[in-house]
Amino acid sequence: MTDCGCEKARRDLEEYLRNEVCKTKHTDIAEHLENCTGCRDEALVATTLTEVVARACKETAPEELRDQVLAKIRAVQATH
Ligand SMILES: [Zn+2]
Repeated sequence: MTDCGCEKARRDLEEYLRNEVCKTKHTDIAEHLENCTGCRDEALVATTLTEVVARACKETAPEELRDQVLAKIRAVQATH
């Protein structure tokens, strides 16, 4: 198994989360996220923020909601 490494994983993370990377690359990054807590947290934060922003575009997202989400993410990260 060849790990693509943190640098590559993070560089491609945004495309990965939008499913824009090619399949081989996608597998590489998914594999890296499996083994790397740091990048997995990074992905979790990015995914959650993307969802919040998407929701905020439809309805006005209250500031507290954003704070709640960020607090939740920090709580998840604290357990690692
Ligand atoms: Zn990593």
